[in-house]
Amino acid sequence: MSSLIATVAIAAPIDKPLSYLVPDSLRESARVGVRLRVPLGRRQAVGYLLALAEGDPAGLKPVAEVLDAAPLFAPELVPFFTRAAEYYGHPLGEVIRTALPAGLSGRGAEIAILREKLYTATDLPGQPSSALQKEVLALVRAAGQLTVSELRAHVAAPYGALRRLVELGYLEESETERRRDPFLDLPVTPDASATPTAEQAAVLARLEPALSGGEFAPFLLHGVTGSGKTEIYLRAIDQILAQGRRALVLVPEIALTPQLVGRFRARFHGGRASIAVLHSGLSDGERYDAWRAIARGEVQIVIGARSAVFAPLDKLGIIVVDEEHEASYKQGEGFRYHARDLALLRGQMAYATVLLGSATPAVTTFQRAQSGQTGYLELRGRVLSRELPQIELVDLAATPFGEHLSAPLLTALEENLTRGEQSLLLLNRRGFAPYLLCADCGATFRCPNCEITLTFHRQNRLLRCHYCDYQQTPPELCPNCNGGNIHPEGIGTERLESELAERFPEARIARMDRDTTARKGAHQSLMERMTGREIDILVGTQMVAKGHDFHGVTLVGVVNADATLNFPDFRSAERTFALLTQVAGRAGRGELPGRVIIQTRNPDHYALACAASHDYRGFYEQEAAFRQELGYPPFGHLVNLVLSGNDGERVAAAAQELVSALFQAAGEVEVLGPAPCPLAKLRGKSRIQILLKSPTRPSLRRLLARLPALRKKIPAGVALAVDVDPVDM
Ligand code: ADP
Ligand code: ZN
Repeated sequence: MSSLIATVAIAAPIDKPLSYLVPDSLRESARVGVRLRVPLGRRQAVGYLLALAEGDPAGLKPVAEVLDAAPLFAPELVPFFTRAAEYYGHPLGEVIRTALPAGLSGRGAEIAILREKLYTATDLPGQPSSALQKEVLALVRAAGQLTVSELRAHVAAPYGALRRLVELGYLEESETERRRDPFLDLPVTPDASATPTAEQAAVLARLEPALSGGEFAPFLLHGVTGSGKTEIYLRAIDQILAQGRRALVLVPEIALTPQLVGRFRARFHGGRASIAVLHSGLSDGERYDAWRAIARGEVQIVIGARSAVFAPLDKLGIIVVDEEHEASYKQGEGFRYHARDLALLRGQMAYATVLLGSATPAVTTFQRAQSGQTGYLELRGRVLSRELPQIELVDLAATPFGEHLSAPLLTALEENLTRGEQSLLLLNRRGFAPYLLCADCGATFRCPNCEITLTFHRQNRLLRCHYCDYQQTPPELCPNCNGGNIHPEGIGTERLESELAERFPEARIARMDRDTTARKGAHQSLMERMTGREIDILVGTQMVAKGHDFHGVTLVGVVNADATLNFPDFRSAERTFALLTQVAGRAGRGELPGRVIIQTRNPDHYALACAASHDYRGFYEQEAAFRQELGYPPFGHLVNLVLSGNDGERVAAAAQELVSALFQAAGEVEVLGPAPCPLAKLRGKSRIQILLKSPTRPSLRRLLARLPALRKKIPAGVALAVDVDPVDM
């Protein structure tokens, strides 16, 4: 006898999807894309319905319950999830769990669906007499139907009028789902699109066949900040929308790019597109509503950070990945995917155009463009031919020990203050000082969970771990030698701010880092004060380098370029080049030209020298040569295996055993390690890594295919994380 069989991915680390019988009572509601409750051993588990087929039910257990009234994703997304799971060697159910909005992983429909009243105009002709009722009726008639919250964008209190209009027969009342959307009530200033510059027109012409065709077409859009990339995104998307297709826009971090979201809303809002913005500031309810609205096909443009790459849009015509080089596209734990790489995979499977935009493309992305795997589009100049800022490197060797600001930077700051122009100082370290040091015995203070030095925060007199948030009050006397000579060493943004305040007492100085922007609205208010010229000098971490368009900034200072350069990671030069270029791009966005001063002890390093001469290609060539020699990406492929656990010896033994097993099957894959991770201890857990390096992907994939079997030999208390294409090692 034939029955309906469901293929289900369990939301747990299980290698393969399982089959279940769909009982007749659930035939109607069991659709691909819903969550199910199913028996698993002696427990019950949540799973995702991937496929339905008629088949032999022998030996299959029945589905216990269907948890969603409507699918959370369309069947088209299943192959994408499956390929992503294969590529990253991660269980499919866990991949889908990561993809879905938070709060849906557990038992039932935990998040309530809100409902609200919907008003529809009837055929009844004529007008009521009250002015407010007239106004409300006109609004509903113009739109056909409106919900209360939509009406409230125009009329503050429409309730009485609505009730009366229903009584009079002008309106009919029904119920609809209310979408929680924090952006719905925000005012929008419509923007008229400018005439493209000659360069923009050339880029758009090259995109044209891809946008009107139905093929996978990936492009790198390489252009300095201010070269008009966003305008290209907007026009390309406009064209896709006109064909009834949809757009997905990925940005590194929504909170840091309100201007970009604003431009999208200004261009499309109220027109043919409904925009959903997915970001970490949404409540679970808001995200759930946005997700389901997207799945129902009510949204044409989704803008979001990393996880939006899974948004359940269908008819996808274009995916934009802005600032594609940003490290925040890589998820650092759990399912360790890279959103840019998944955007390419998704674009391929959806036959969409994929636009990767950057002023400083990732070395791997640029190499793909060079080899012809993706198209290459370039915007060389800034719009309105604004000059790129002049960049100077200042060798800190000439600055007295213990001083953090060189004479050229101080002079430039002073001159800028005199002229009433704004300055921006980048220092990639928050807090007052990176550590406290006992001058008598040399003792420092370390995190008991992570073994790295604790950062001194003077404002709230705390020593804090920036990895696990451990904190303690700093001791008066050294616990080691009882001496009273404990000093803060090095400099963080807090100290920089206070040193500047001493030197320039008349200047209005502010700080932008995670500590000063933790409060809701604080970041926005800093940006507004900056735009309103209420700040002379803004000090901050790399947060200040991102996406802002402050027209008054004419001086940018980088206090210590070596902090990123000396990071123990083969991408440190790439990161440094990108960060310096990006922060330099903050200077001279307005009428006046910009100037950039970079302080360093490595002025001859190619990453700095090339950044100073705006020479991306020069940087790429040196960096590519270095990568090629060492077999690093894009000329080799990496997988990092991280073993962690509370018992350090147990972790070390497990790592040793895993390495031996891998060696036997390695072939051309190099097995490096085991070695302690750069953070050898994190949140109390010891961490050891094994790096797999291979000239080709297939041999690496063959080795990874053995992992499920090898995993079984790893003892309890030791966890294994697989990081394909790792970003931090
Ligand atoms: P990017 O995304 O590369 O940093 P933008 O698209 O933000 O560049 O463009 C930089 C500035 O130039 C913005 O203020 C934008 O409004 C303006 N702009 C872009 N294209 C044009 C154009 N064709 N004509 C006039 N102004 C433009
Ligand atoms: Zn810690």
